[in-house]
Amino acid sequence: MGDVFFSFRGRVYINAEALNMVESIGNYVKHRRVPVIVPGTYVTYMVPAISGESIAHGYQYVLAQKAVEKGLPVCKLCRHGIFLKSTNESVFMDSFDKKEIPKTPEELEKEIVAGCVVEDVGGFLYASEKGKSKVKNLKRTSNFYVGYMIPAAEALINTVVEPQLHTRYALGTKYVGRGEREARGQMIYYVEIASASYVFSYDLDTRYIGRSTYSIDMAGKPLVGKDEMIERKIVALEAFAEFLTEMMFGAKKTRFLPVIDWESFVVAVSDKPWTVPSPFTKKYIERATKKLEKINKNTKLYIYKEEGEQGPEEVLLHAVEDATERIKQ
Ligand SMILES: [Zn+2]
Repeated sequence: MGDVFFSFRGRVYINAEALNMVESIGNYVKHRRVPVIVPGTYVTYMVPAISGESIAHGYQYVLAQKAVEKGLPVCKLCRHGIFLKSTNESVFMDSFDKKEIPKTPEELEKEIVAGCVVEDVGGFLYASEKGKSKVKNLKRTSNFYVGYMIPAAEALINTVVEPQLHTRYALGTKYVGRGEREARGQMIYYVEIASASYVFSYDLDTRYIGRSTYSIDMAGKPLVGKDEMIERKIVALEAFAEFLTEMMFGAKKTRFLPVIDWESFVVAVSDKPWTVPSPFTKKYIERATKKLEKINKNTKLYIYKEEGEQGPEEVLLHAVEDATERIKQ
């Protein structure tokens, strides 16, 4: 049974999006913003962004659904997209239908990992509520890595966040009068929307999927059977393919469904950690091929460009197939 390191970096045009909102002040809903520095001039801009937490939620939701479809174990909360992930005694016991907490951290990790693919792949953080269990706290680091989507370097100074005014049409009804009644009846509100060429990053390291990570002595010890371990690694990859081709992340998509097109991306499939260089600057594809000339961990690159012959889905699926074959070997 093999392991892979799967690394994806890309640039994607997202127009008129409200994918990650942070707060509403009265009837004004704000888009998330982060400070980003412009290379060369070092000027810092506050630009629209989509958080890694938002992306991780979307990915784990697809992962939960796909794992359930394949008959793999997913706990009661994760299968509904509620990722409290064994955060304390009551969440653990409700999620896994247990009456008590295992006595040692090793046993607790085994029960959680064996019982839930999402917590196996995406990690968890258990912290006991005051003195209720022998295990005080237990952490499992996520096997996949995501971060903020920010505008690409060249797009930074041209990125716009614009509040859009919306009203419900209710004129001519008794619900709309003068003064306050006018505003209430028509529900005037503002939603900030943004447009940019965003960068996107995702890495998956399958080494510890289905295995213990808790202590030095135990690290790497299998917690599930061999066949199931293979299935878990493959479902983590297939979930990513579906997540990306269907863009299964972000909020407010029922009325602010953004216009999305991939500009370019690079996928690296390797036996050991090998990450694609950051797509923040345009040269990242060239830098990836140069890096491969110097560092090669049985690495194969899959590159999508707008002007290329293959569509983004085709390129991505080839990469996923390669990774899947390596896992099965
Ligand atoms: Zn779970």
